[in-house]
Amino acid sequence: MVTVASTRPFVALITGSSRGIGAATALYFAKQGYDVCINYKSDLASAQLVASEVESFGVRAQIVKADVSQEADVLALFTHIDKEFGQLNVLVNNAGILKPQMPLLDMSAERINAVLTTNITSAFLCSREAVKRMVNGGSIVNVSSGAAKTGSPNEYIDYAASKGAMDTFTIGLAKEVASKGIRVNSVRPALIYTDMHGDGGEKNRVDRLKNKLPLGRGGTPEEVAAAIYFLASEQASFTTASFIDVAGGL
Ligand code: NAP
Repeated sequence: MVTVASTRPFVALITGSSRGIGAATALYFAKQGYDVCINYKSDLASAQLVASEVESFGVRAQIVKADVSQEADVLALFTHIDKEFGQLNVLVNNAGILKPQMPLLDMSAERINAVLTTNITSAFLCSREAVKRMVNGGSIVNVSSGAAKTGSPNEYIDYAASKGAMDTFTIGLAKEVASKGIRVNSVRPALIYTDMHGDGGEKNRVDRLKNKLPLGRGGTPEEVAAAIYFLASEQASFTTASFIDVAGGL
């Protein structure tokens, strides 16, 4: 079954692609011949580095600053895609944050809301706009987390809960848009070497915990990007509402 438009080159929007898993995913899609929309919130210099690497593969890169937790920013982001690319084949809902480790008893409403709107409201908003545009089918991949299953007690249960919501969102949306030829899947990474762990107040968290994983090591952003690309690609044409754990056996 053909699930994406037949016009080439295909276009992928990867939210939060200035750094980490999103940046690796942008490069992975570029290597496969996709034009890529690189979205960031504040780190323009990193987004520019990713864009020049993307362009080195002979495809187009567009950089768009947008806080994807904010509806007005999301609308502007998609308007930019309409103008510059005229189509969208793949959306990767990757942007996400976590806050310093603490138990629930110390969490403020402000913090909880920031985590939920950045990690899950963003996926609702971006997917809504993507589905409107995927009139010839398409593919959405949500970046969840192993935390959806562990719950991350005493570290960030707000973050873990946002990823649990992401998993339910993946299943519901996949069933809602399957008849439109749009597939919706998810990856659940864990313990990947990126800046994010520093935001939680423990830069070396992966190295502290890696020996507890059956594979005995942390993962790389590129290993997550490969799973995201597989789910988005025609290689996964009969796969929807599905999850790949990229988590070393967690
Ligand atoms: P990261 O290195 O901290 O990168 C986060 C990216 O998201 C950056 O490009 C950042 O942009 C962007 N971003 C943050 N808030 C945004 C917003 N409101 N609007 C637009 N972009 C925003 O994180 P990462 O580790 O690559 O994480 C990527 C995804 O993987 C997240 O959803 C995370 O929950 C998930 N994940 C990561 C791990 C792991 O071990 N690293 C494990 C499981 C799941 P700026 O550069 O402008 O700040």
